[in-house]
Amino acid sequence: MKLHNFNSGPSILPQEVLEQAVNAIKNFNGIGLSILEIGHRTNWFLDVMQEARFLVKELMQLNDNYEVLFLHGGATTQFMQVPMNLLDSTETAAYCDNGIWGSKAIKEASVFGNVNIVASSKDKNYTYLNKNFDIPTNNKYLHITTNNTVEGTQWHQFPKTNVPIVADMSSDIFSREINFNQFSLIYAGAQKNMGAAGVSLVVIDKNIVGKISRKISPIMNYQNHIDADSVLNTPPVFAVYVALLTLRWIKKEGGLKEMQKRAEQKSALLYNTIDSLPLFHCPINKEDRSKMNAVFFIDNERLQNNFLEECKQNGMIGVKGYRTMGGIRVSMYNALKYESVETITQLMKYFANKNG
Ligand SMILES: *Cc1c(COP(=O)(O)O)cnc(C)c1O
Repeated sequence: MKLHNFNSGPSILPQEVLEQAVNAIKNFNGIGLSILEIGHRTNWFLDVMQEARFLVKELMQLNDNYEVLFLHGGATTQFMQVPMNLLDSTETAAYCDNGIWGSKAIKEASVFGNVNIVASSKDKNYTYLNKNFDIPTNNKYLHITTNNTVEGTQWHQFPKTNVPIVADMSSDIFSREINFNQFSLIYAGAQKNMGAAGVSLVVIDKNIVGKISRKISPIMNYQNHIDADSVLNTPPVFAVYVALLTLRWIKKEGGLKEMQKRAEQKSALLYNTIDSLPLFHCPINKEDRSKMNAVFFIDNERLQNNFLEECKQNGMIGVKGYRTMGGIRVSMYNALKYESVETITQLMKYFANKNG
């Protein structure tokens, strides 16, 4: 039985992407070698990198100011690389503290310069987004996490500001149609919604780099990666290839418009079910609820554990909440089918009936 995969990351990928990846491991494009065996400076791989970068620009409809990079080190490394490249030690950057990932980004940024926490929702355990705040015009950039993977909140409208916006989109990249040109830098670890672990996407307005006086380690300098067309050193070849396969799949299925439609349908079904059953409760402010990661609870811990156990026994995995949050978390990334959400909502109704 194929499991219903609600993992938060690494997470579900389209079946056809998995099959194409398997074929490429055996024999890449029929060349007689595995994708794992080819040099990163061969045309075989350079074509992969070029197409992946191009597809990102096309799907996001980015203007010519933007460069697309595929880098090592996960989104967490971007917590560090962003301020290292953009924030001088005497300067201040604005950060929103809306969850565990944003607060880690704040810790990294304070190593390089000053951090101004312009909005926090910590007072209510990160169950909402504080959207009313001012950003001093002298702040170097504003950092937001567009989707709080652990807490289950998501920005549905973005702050209007003249300060450049840096966005961690690790868990909702390519899930909706938005104006990506409003951001100066976007980054995302691939393993949630666009591929396998081992690579991060960085989309950067090339005009924001090179504006600080700090010496930057060459391997961490965005400009060097831009100049090298994202092959400064050996990239994670296979992870980039899986990202390319996923990007092709997104385009073939109808692009971001279609991904958004599916996310709306899946999340509506799940949240409507939660709200209709008194046994379950979602503490997240309704207008801030995430269409990617739904976080909710059964207030009786014994019943909640039973529910998690029933999920497992019925082939639904990855449903347990993050270790610091507890509760239930259902992740509904692009590749998750509507039928999987139907399956878990049926179990929720059955369980509520039995225990309600
Ligand atoms: C998972 C996640 C991260 C951390 O990603 P790594 O690739 O493990 O470093 C950062 N930000 C968000 C929003 C995430 O969901």
